[in-house]
Amino acid sequence: MTSCSGAEVRGVPAKFDAVLALGTNIGDRVANIEDAIDRLGADGVVKVVARSRLYRTAPWGVTDQDWFVNACVGVQTALSPHELLRRCQAVENDMGRVRVQHWGPRIIDVDILTFGKRQICEPDLVVPHPLIAERAFVLVPLRDIAPDFSIGGQTLDAMLSELNAEDVVPVGS
Ligand code: ADP
Ligand code: MG
Repeated sequence: MTSCSGAEVRGVPAKFDAVLALGTNIGDRVANIEDAIDRLGADGVVKVVARSRLYRTAPWGVTDQDWFVNACVGVQTALSPHELLRRCQAVENDMGRVRVQHWGPRIIDVDILTFGKRQICEPDLVVPHPLIAERAFVLVPLRDIAPDFSIGGQTLDAMLSELNAEDVVPVGS
């Protein structure tokens, strides 16, 4: 993963211990997101307390692949950031994710966007997620659950004004 910015996170509702981003572009994408959210919260160790709408989005990074469905959730948990990462990866693995190509097709991707106001810069975990500001498919769902979010003083709308968000539309619209 890329570098650690140190940019300060503001505006995430205090009731969220962490914010996660989910994405999928294989099979029944809506069902995959629902399945992942159910699995994340299955034993109560992670409690999903807010969820965005589901968005149909154009592929990013590796653009020669099928469209995605993306969403964000706010969670409460007593897990540490690395424990939460392992849980996200367990959901990915349990759902049959196979890592073939970086940013390539995936049945489910679960990333940690923020963990409180924590700055984490380790080889296997960078928080806040370094690519938030570049991804409309993260910013638009994030706006549903954390409309006052800012990072390094940049608001969601400021970040989105630099991006093309035309290809991020609510599922079913
Ligand atoms: P991507 O999410 O970029 O498509 P992967 O899901 O395959 O790629 O994750 C690659 C690695 O990114 C993981 O092994 C994980 O250790 C690392 N990583 C670093 N920071 C984070 C984060 N904030 N959330 C999730 N994974 C992260
Ligand atoms: Mg990931």
